[in-house]
Amino acid sequence: MDKNIFLETTKQYCANNYNPLDVVLTKGRGVWVYDEKGRKYIDFLSGYSALNQGHNHRLIIDAIKKQIKGITLTSRAFYNDQLGFFAKELCQLAGYEMMLPMNTGAEAVETAIKLARKWGLYQKKVKYGEILVCKNNFHGRTITIISFSTEQQYRDGFSPFTKGFKIIEFNSLKAVKNAISDKTIAVLMEPIQAEGGIIIPDKGYLTGVANLCRKNNILFMLDEIQTGLGRIGKLFAYEYDYNAKPDVLIVGKALSGGFYPVSAVLSSKSIFRVIKPGDHGSTFGGNPLASAIARASLNVIIKEKLTENSYLQGAYFLNSLKTIKSKWIKEIRGKGLLIGIELHKKAGGARRFCEALMKESLLCKETHENVIRLAPPLIIKREQIDFAFKKIKKILENQNK
Ligand SMILES: *Cc1c(COP(=O)(O)O)cnc(C)c1O
Repeated sequence: MDKNIFLETTKQYCANNYNPLDVVLTKGRGVWVYDEKGRKYIDFLSGYSALNQGHNHRLIIDAIKKQIKGITLTSRAFYNDQLGFFAKELCQLAGYEMMLPMNTGAEAVETAIKLARKWGLYQKKVKYGEILVCKNNFHGRTITIISFSTEQQYRDGFSPFTKGFKIIEFNSLKAVKNAISDKTIAVLMEPIQAEGGIIIPDKGYLTGVANLCRKNNILFMLDEIQTGLGRIGKLFAYEYDYNAKPDVLIVGKALSGGFYPVSAVLSSKSIFRVIKPGDHGSTFGGNPLASAIARASLNVIIKEKLTENSYLQGAYFLNSLKTIKSKWIKEIRGKGLLIGIELHKKAGGARRFCEALMKESLLCKETHENVIRLAPPLIIKREQIDFAFKKIKKILENQNK
Protein backbone atom coordinates (compact mmCIF):
# COMPACT_ATOMS: atom_id res chain seq x y z
CA MET A 1 0.00 0.00 0.00
CA ASP A 2 1.08 3.55 -0.59
CA LYS A 3 2.70 5.23 2.37
CA ASN A 4 0.52 8.31 2.02
CA ILE A 5 -2.64 6.43 2.87
CA PHE A 6 -1.23 5.71 6.35
CA LEU A 7 -0.13 9.29 6.86
CA GLU A 8 -3.38 10.75 5.57
CA THR A 9 -5.76 8.56 7.57
CA THR A 10 -3.74 9.21 10.71
CA LYS A 11 -3.71 12.94 10.11
CA GLN A 12 -7.38 13.05 9.25
CA TYR A 13 -8.77 10.94 12.09
CA CYS A 14 -6.21 11.16 14.87
CA ALA A 15 -5.91 14.24 17.08
CA ASN A 16 -2.78 16.17 16.35
CA ASN A 17 -0.96 15.70 19.68
CA TYR A 18 2.23 14.25 18.14
CA ASN A 19 4.59 15.27 15.38
CA PRO A 20 5.99 11.93 14.15
CA LEU A 21 8.87 11.42 11.77
CA ASP A 22 7.77 10.64 8.26
CA VAL A 23 8.08 6.85 8.46
CA VAL A 24 5.40 4.14 8.64
CA LEU A 25 6.44 1.05 10.58
CA THR A 26 4.82 -2.27 9.82
CA LYS A 27 7.13 -4.83 11.40
CA GLY A 28 9.56 -5.10 14.32
CA ARG A 29 12.12 -7.80 15.13
CA GLY A 30 14.74 -7.36 17.81
CA VAL A 31 16.51 -4.02 17.35
CA TRP A 32 15.11 -3.68 13.83
CA VAL A 33 11.92 -2.08 12.58
CA TYR A 34 10.67 -2.20 8.99
CA ASP A 35 8.63 0.28 6.98
CA GLU A 36 5.86 -0.47 4.51
CA LYS A 37 8.41 -0.97 1.73
CA GLY A 38 10.44 -3.40 3.81
CA ARG A 39 13.29 -0.94 4.42
CA LYS A 40 14.85 -1.57 7.81
CA TYR A 41 16.01 0.74 10.55
CA ILE A 42 17.56 0.29 13.98
CA ASP A 43 15.10 1.50 16.58
CA PHE A 44 16.98 4.04 18.70
CA LEU A 45 13.93 5.09 20.66
CA SER A 46 12.67 1.67 21.80
CA GLY A 47 9.20 3.01 22.50
CA TYR A 48 10.71 5.49 24.97
CA SER A 49 12.42 2.49 26.66
CA ALA A 50 9.38 0.22 26.75
CA LEU A 51 11.19 -2.10 24.34
CA ASN A 52 14.34 -2.90 26.31
CA GLN A 53 13.88 -6.56 25.30
CA GLY A 54 13.65 -5.67 21.60
CA HIS A 55 10.64 -5.98 19.30
CA ASN A 56 8.46 -9.10 19.27
CA HIS A 57 10.57 -11.08 21.69
CA ARG A 58 9.96 -14.80 21.17
CA LEU A 59 9.72 -15.70 24.87
CA ILE A 60 7.20 -12.95 25.58
CA ILE A 61 5.12 -13.99 22.57
CA ASP A 62 5.15 -17.57 23.89
CA ALA A 63 3.96 -16.35 27.29
CA ILE A 64 1.15 -14.40 25.64
CA LYS A 65 0.07 -17.38 23.52
CA LYS A 66 0.04 -19.60 26.58
CA GLN A 67 -1.89 -17.10 28.68
CA ILE A 68 -4.59 -16.34 26.10
CA LYS A 69 -5.44 -20.04 26.04
CA GLY A 70 -6.32 -19.60 29.71
CA ILE A 71 -7.72 -16.24 30.72
CA THR A 72 -6.86 -12.63 29.87
CA LEU A 73 -8.93 -10.43 32.18
CA THR A 74 -10.48 -11.21 35.52
CA SER A 75 -10.55 -7.77 37.14
CA ARG A 76 -9.33 -7.60 40.71
CA ALA A 77 -12.79 -8.63 41.88
CA PHE A 78 -11.37 -12.17 41.68
CA TYR A 79 -7.94 -13.72 42.10
CA ASN A 80 -6.08 -14.94 39.05
CA ASP A 81 -3.25 -17.43 38.60
CA GLN A 82 -0.63 -14.89 37.41
CA LEU A 83 -0.75 -11.73 39.51
CA GLY A 84 0.63 -13.19 42.73
CA PHE A 85 3.66 -14.65 40.95
CA PHE A 86 4.23 -11.44 39.00
CA ALA A 87 4.13 -9.46 42.25
CA LYS A 88 6.46 -11.90 44.01
CA GLU A 89 8.98 -11.97 41.15
CA LEU A 90 9.04 -8.19 40.76
CA CYS A 91 9.29 -7.59 44.52
CA GLN A 92 12.10 -10.12 44.89
CA LEU A 93 13.99 -8.74 41.92
CA ALA A 94 13.73 -5.13 43.07
CA GLY A 95 13.98 -5.85 46.80
CA TYR A 96 10.58 -4.67 48.05
CA GLU A 97 7.89 -6.28 50.17
CA MET A 98 4.82 -5.31 48.15
CA MET A 99 3.64 -3.84 44.89
CA LEU A 100 0.52 -2.28 43.46
CA PRO A 101 -0.05 -3.02 39.76
CA MET A 102 -1.35 -0.44 37.30
CA ASN A 103 -1.13 -0.03 33.52
CA THR A 104 0.54 3.15 32.34
CA GLY A 105 3.40 5.03 33.88
CA ALA A 106 1.31 8.08 34.66
CA GLU A 107 -1.16 5.90 36.56
CA ALA A 108 1.64 4.46 38.64
CA VAL A 109 2.92 7.97 39.43
CA GLU A 110 -0.62 9.00 40.43
CA THR A 111 -0.76 5.89 42.61
CA ALA A 112 2.50 6.82 44.34
CA ILE A 113 1.16 10.33 44.98
CA LYS A 114 -2.05 8.93 46.47
CA LEU A 115 -0.03 6.52 48.58
CA ALA A 116 2.18 9.34 49.85
CA ARG A 117 -0.79 11.53 50.72
CA LYS A 118 -2.61 8.81 52.61
CA TRP A 119 0.58 7.74 54.36
CA GLY A 120 1.19 11.39 55.21
CA LEU A 121 -2.23 11.81 56.76
CA TYR A 122 -2.53 8.52 58.66
CA GLN A 123 1.07 7.65 59.50
CA LYS A 124 2.95 10.89 59.56
CA LYS A 125 -0.20 12.72 60.69
CA VAL A 126 0.17 15.70 58.39
CA LYS A 127 -2.94 17.26 56.89
CA TYR A 128 -2.62 18.51 53.29
CA GLY A 129 0.93 17.22 53.04
CA GLU A 130 3.27 18.63 50.45
CA ILE A 131 5.35 16.70 47.93
CA LEU A 132 8.67 18.06 46.67
CA VAL A 133 9.32 17.62 42.95
CA CYS A 134 12.08 18.82 40.64
CA LYS A 135 12.35 21.44 37.95
CA ASN A 136 12.51 19.97 34.44
CA ASN A 137 10.75 16.78 35.60
CA PHE A 138 8.74 14.40 33.47
CA HIS A 139 6.31 12.06 35.22
CA GLY A 140 3.49 11.79 32.68
CA ARG A 141 0.56 13.77 31.38
CA THR A 142 -2.41 13.62 33.73
CA ILE A 143 -3.80 16.82 35.23
CA THR A 144 -2.20 16.17 38.62
CA ILE A 145 1.17 15.34 37.09
CA ILE A 146 1.28 18.34 34.78
CA SER A 147 0.27 20.45 37.78
CA PHE A 148 3.90 20.22 38.86
CA SER A 149 5.51 20.21 35.43
CA THR A 150 7.77 23.15 34.62
CA GLU A 151 7.28 22.68 30.88
CA GLN A 152 5.03 25.54 29.78
CA GLN A 153 3.50 23.64 26.87
CA TYR A 154 2.49 20.67 29.01
CA ARG A 155 0.40 23.01 31.19
CA ASP A 156 -0.83 25.69 28.86
CA GLY A 157 -4.62 25.66 28.67
CA PHE A 158 -5.12 22.84 31.16
CA SER A 159 -5.68 24.68 34.43
CA PRO A 160 -7.01 24.55 37.16
CA PHE A 161 -4.24 22.40 38.59
CA THR A 162 -3.82 20.09 41.57
CA LYS A 163 -2.27 21.64 44.66
CA GLY A 164 0.22 20.21 47.12
CA PHE A 165 3.51 20.23 45.24
CA LYS A 166 6.61 22.34 45.68
CA ILE A 167 9.09 22.60 42.82
CA ILE A 168 12.79 22.62 43.66
CA GLU A 169 16.04 22.67 41.72
CA PHE A 170 17.23 19.23 40.53
CA ASN A 171 20.69 18.09 41.63
CA SER A 172 20.87 20.48 44.58
CA LEU A 173 20.84 19.02 48.08
CA LYS A 174 20.60 22.49 49.48
CA ALA A 175 17.35 23.00 47.58
CA VAL A 176 15.89 19.86 49.18
CA LYS A 177 17.08 20.91 52.63
CA ASN A 178 15.64 24.40 52.28
CA ALA A 179 12.31 23.17 50.95
CA ILE A 180 11.61 20.63 53.69
CA SER A 181 9.00 21.79 56.18
CA ASP A 182 6.57 20.24 58.68
CA LYS A 183 4.19 19.77 55.77
CA THR A 184 6.59 17.75 53.60
CA ILE A 185 5.48 14.14 53.22
CA ALA A 186 7.44 13.00 50.17
CA VAL A 187 10.04 13.78 47.56
CA LEU A 188 9.29 12.56 44.04
CA MET A 189 11.96 12.63 41.36
CA GLU A 190 13.61 10.81 38.48
CA PRO A 191 17.12 9.52 39.21
CA ILE A 192 18.13 10.77 35.76
CA GLN A 193 15.91 13.25 33.95
CA ALA A 194 15.38 11.41 30.71
CA GLU A 195 12.72 13.43 28.90
CA GLY A 196 14.29 16.55 30.35
CA GLY A 197 17.34 16.00 28.16
CA ILE A 198 19.19 13.11 29.90
CA ILE A 199 20.30 15.16 32.88
CA ILE A 200 22.48 13.07 35.20
CA PRO A 201 22.83 14.36 38.77
CA ASP A 202 26.14 14.38 40.64
CA LYS A 203 27.22 11.23 42.38
CA GLY A 204 25.99 11.34 45.96
CA TYR A 205 22.97 13.48 45.21
CA LEU A 206 20.42 10.66 45.42
CA THR A 207 22.08 9.32 48.58
CA GLY A 208 21.89 12.80 50.04
CA VAL A 209 18.20 13.11 49.21
CA ALA A 210 17.53 9.64 50.62
CA ASN A 211 19.31 10.59 53.86
CA LEU A 212 17.41 13.86 54.20
CA CYS A 213 14.18 11.93 53.72
CA ARG A 214 15.11 9.34 56.35
CA LYS A 215 16.11 12.03 58.82
CA ASN A 216 12.86 13.95 58.38
CA ASN A 217 10.45 11.02 58.06
CA ILE A 218 9.67 11.84 54.45
CA LEU A 219 9.00 9.27 51.73
CA PHE A 220 11.70 9.13 49.07
CA MET A 221 9.93 8.22 45.82
CA LEU A 222 11.83 7.52 42.61
CA ASP A 223 10.24 7.38 39.19
CA GLU A 224 12.32 4.76 37.35
CA ILE A 225 9.74 4.24 34.63
CA GLN A 226 12.25 5.10 31.92
CA THR A 227 15.60 4.57 33.67
CA GLY A 228 14.70 1.27 35.35
CA LEU A 229 14.92 -2.36 34.31
CA GLY A 230 18.40 -2.21 32.84
CA ARG A 231 18.21 0.86 30.64
CA ILE A 232 21.04 2.73 32.34
CA GLY A 233 23.35 -0.25 32.85
CA LYS A 234 22.12 -1.13 36.32
CA LEU A 235 18.77 -2.65 37.12
CA PHE A 236 17.82 0.74 38.61
CA ALA A 237 19.56 4.07 38.27
CA TYR A 238 19.67 4.67 42.04
CA GLU A 239 22.18 1.80 42.28
CA TYR A 240 24.86 4.12 40.92
CA ASP A 241 24.69 5.84 44.30
CA TYR A 242 25.42 4.30 47.67
CA ASN A 243 22.45 3.53 49.91
CA ALA A 244 19.96 5.50 47.81
CA LYS A 245 17.20 2.91 47.62
CA PRO A 246 13.86 4.74 47.64
CA ASP A 247 10.93 4.00 49.95
CA VAL A 248 8.68 3.99 46.91
CA LEU A 249 9.87 2.86 43.47
CA ILE A 250 7.79 3.41 40.34
CA VAL A 251 8.28 1.19 37.29
CA GLY A 252 6.56 0.84 33.93
CA LYS A 253 7.58 0.92 30.28
CA ALA A 254 9.92 -2.10 29.85
CA LEU A 255 7.82 -4.10 32.31
CA SER A 256 5.63 -4.54 29.23
CA GLY A 257 8.32 -5.83 26.88
CA GLY A 258 6.64 -3.48 24.43
CA PHE A 259 3.46 -5.57 24.21
CA TYR A 260 0.91 -4.24 26.61
CA PRO A 261 1.12 -1.49 29.24
CA VAL A 262 2.14 -2.69 32.70
CA SER A 263 3.29 -0.48 35.56
CA ALA A 264 3.72 -0.89 39.29
CA VAL A 265 4.48 0.92 42.52
CA LEU A 266 6.78 -0.90 44.92
CA SER A 267 7.17 -0.21 48.61
CA SER A 268 7.13 -1.72 52.09
CA LYS A 269 4.28 -3.40 53.93
CA SER A 270 4.26 -0.68 56.52
CA ILE A 271 3.77 2.07 53.92
CA PHE A 272 1.19 0.10 51.93
CA ARG A 273 -0.74 -0.53 55.15
CA VAL A 274 -2.70 2.67 54.56
CA ILE A 275 -4.25 1.25 51.37
CA LYS A 276 -7.51 -0.58 52.05
CA PRO A 277 -9.92 -2.42 49.71
CA GLY A 278 -11.74 0.15 47.62
CA ASP A 279 -9.21 2.95 48.16
CA HIS A 280 -7.71 2.65 44.70
CA GLY A 281 -8.02 0.43 41.68
CA SER A 282 -7.96 -0.18 37.97
CA THR A 283 -10.03 -2.38 35.66
CA PHE A 284 -6.98 -3.69 33.84
CA GLY A 285 -4.29 -3.30 36.52
CA GLY A 286 -2.77 -6.65 37.45
CA ASN A 287 -4.81 -8.63 34.94
CA PRO A 288 -3.54 -12.12 34.15
CA LEU A 289 -2.40 -11.34 30.60
CA ALA A 290 -0.51 -8.25 31.74
CA SER A 291 0.99 -10.22 34.62
CA ALA A 292 2.12 -13.05 32.34
CA ILE A 293 3.67 -10.51 29.96
CA ALA A 294 5.46 -8.71 32.78
CA ARG A 295 6.80 -12.00 34.19
CA ALA A 296 8.19 -12.94 30.79
CA SER A 297 9.57 -9.43 30.25
CA LEU A 298 11.43 -9.54 33.57
CA ASN A 299 12.63 -13.04 32.82
CA VAL A 300 14.14 -11.90 29.52
CA ILE A 301 15.95 -9.02 31.24
CA ILE A 302 17.50 -11.43 33.74
CA LYS A 303 18.16 -14.44 31.49
CA GLU A 304 19.67 -12.48 28.63
CA LYS A 305 21.70 -10.30 31.00
CA LEU A 306 20.31 -7.16 29.40
CA THR A 307 21.43 -4.94 32.27
CA GLU A 308 25.03 -6.11 31.86
CA ASN A 309 24.82 -5.72 28.08
CA SER A 310 23.44 -2.21 28.52
CA TYR A 311 26.36 -1.34 30.79
CA LEU A 312 29.02 -2.72 28.42
CA GLN A 313 27.59 -1.62 25.08
CA GLY A 314 26.56 1.71 26.56
CA ALA A 315 30.08 2.49 27.76
CA TYR A 316 31.52 1.41 24.41
CA PHE A 317 28.98 3.48 22.48
CA LEU A 318 29.47 6.57 24.65
CA ASN A 319 33.26 6.41 24.28
CA SER A 320 32.94 6.02 20.52
CA LEU A 321 30.52 8.93 20.25
CA LYS A 322 32.86 11.15 22.22
CA THR A 323 35.46 10.84 19.46
CA ILE A 324 33.14 12.56 16.96
CA LYS A 325 34.33 16.02 16.05
CA SER A 326 31.46 18.23 15.04
CA LYS A 327 30.80 21.93 15.41
CA TRP A 328 27.22 21.08 16.32
CA ILE A 329 27.93 19.03 19.43
CA LYS A 330 27.77 20.75 22.80
CA GLU A 331 27.97 17.70 25.03
CA ILE A 332 27.51 13.95 24.90
CA ARG A 333 26.37 12.27 28.09
CA GLY A 334 24.71 9.09 29.21
CA LYS A 335 24.57 6.02 31.38
CA GLY A 336 24.22 2.56 29.93
CA LEU A 337 22.11 2.71 26.81
CA LEU A 338 20.47 6.02 27.62
CA ILE A 339 22.63 8.51 25.78
CA GLY A 340 22.01 12.09 24.76
CA ILE A 341 23.88 14.16 22.21
CA GLU A 342 23.21 17.77 23.09
CA LEU A 343 23.62 20.16 20.19
CA HIS A 344 24.46 23.84 20.25
CA LYS A 345 21.56 26.21 19.64
CA LYS A 346 23.09 27.22 16.31
CA ALA A 347 22.55 23.63 15.08
CA GLY A 348 18.90 24.60 14.62
CA GLY A 349 17.39 21.82 16.73
CA ALA A 350 17.93 18.07 16.88
CA ARG A 351 14.97 17.31 14.65
CA ARG A 352 16.73 17.79 11.33
CA PHE A 353 19.53 15.50 12.50
CA CYS A 354 16.96 12.84 13.40
CA GLU A 355 15.49 13.22 9.92
CA ALA A 356 18.92 12.82 8.36
CA LEU A 357 19.64 9.78 10.52
CA MET A 358 16.36 8.24 9.40
CA LYS A 359 17.66 8.27 5.83
CA GLU A 360 20.69 6.39 7.18
CA SER A 361 18.54 3.64 8.74
CA LEU A 362 18.52 4.92 12.31
CA LEU A 363 15.31 5.99 14.01
CA CYS A 364 15.92 8.52 16.76
CA LYS A 365 13.74 11.09 18.41
CA GLU A 366 14.85 14.45 19.65
CA THR A 367 14.13 15.36 23.24
CA HIS A 368 14.03 18.92 24.54
CA GLU A 369 14.67 20.52 21.13
CA ASN A 370 18.43 20.19 21.17
CA VAL A 371 19.13 16.65 22.36
CA ILE A 372 19.31 13.57 20.16
CA ARG A 373 18.34 10.66 22.40
CA LEU A 374 19.95 7.30 21.69
CA ALA A 375 18.18 4.48 23.49
CA PRO A 376 18.23 1.25 21.47
CA PRO A 377 16.83 -2.05 22.75
CA LEU A 378 19.21 -3.51 25.34
CA ILE A 379 19.76 -6.61 23.21
CA ILE A 380 21.84 -4.53 20.78
CA LYS A 381 25.13 -6.08 19.67
CA ARG A 382 28.49 -4.47 19.20
CA GLU A 383 28.44 -4.67 15.40
CA GLN A 384 25.07 -2.89 15.37
CA ILE A 385 26.52 -0.16 17.57
CA ASP A 386 29.46 0.12 15.17
CA PHE A 387 27.04 0.39 12.25
CA ALA A 388 25.07 3.12 14.03
CA PHE A 389 28.19 4.95 15.15
CA LYS A 390 29.44 5.30 11.55
CA LYS A 391 26.11 6.78 10.47
CA ILE A 392 25.90 9.18 13.40
CA LYS A 393 29.47 10.32 12.85
CA LYS A 394 28.79 10.90 9.17
CA ILE A 395 25.67 12.97 9.85
CA LEU A 396 27.15 15.03 12.66
CA GLU A 397 30.42 15.70 10.89
CA ASN A 398 28.99 16.43 7.45
CA GLN A 399 25.62 18.06 8.09
CA ASN A 400 25.99 21.71 7.26
CA LYS A 401 23.77 24.68 7.74
C1 LIG B 1 7.21 7.71 30.16
C2 LIG B 1 7.35 8.19 31.54
C3 LIG B 1 6.22 8.36 32.37
C4 LIG B 1 4.81 8.18 31.88
O1 LIG B 1 4.53 6.90 31.43
P1 LIG B 1 3.23 6.66 30.50
O2 LIG B 1 3.19 5.17 30.35
O3 LIG B 1 3.49 7.36 29.21
O4 LIG B 1 2.07 7.20 31.23
C5 LIG B 1 6.44 8.75 33.67
N1 LIG B 1 7.67 8.98 34.15
C6 LIG B 1 8.77 8.84 33.38
C7 LIG B 1 10.11 9.09 33.97
C8 LIG B 1 8.65 8.47 32.05
O5 LIG B 1 9.73 8.37 31.28
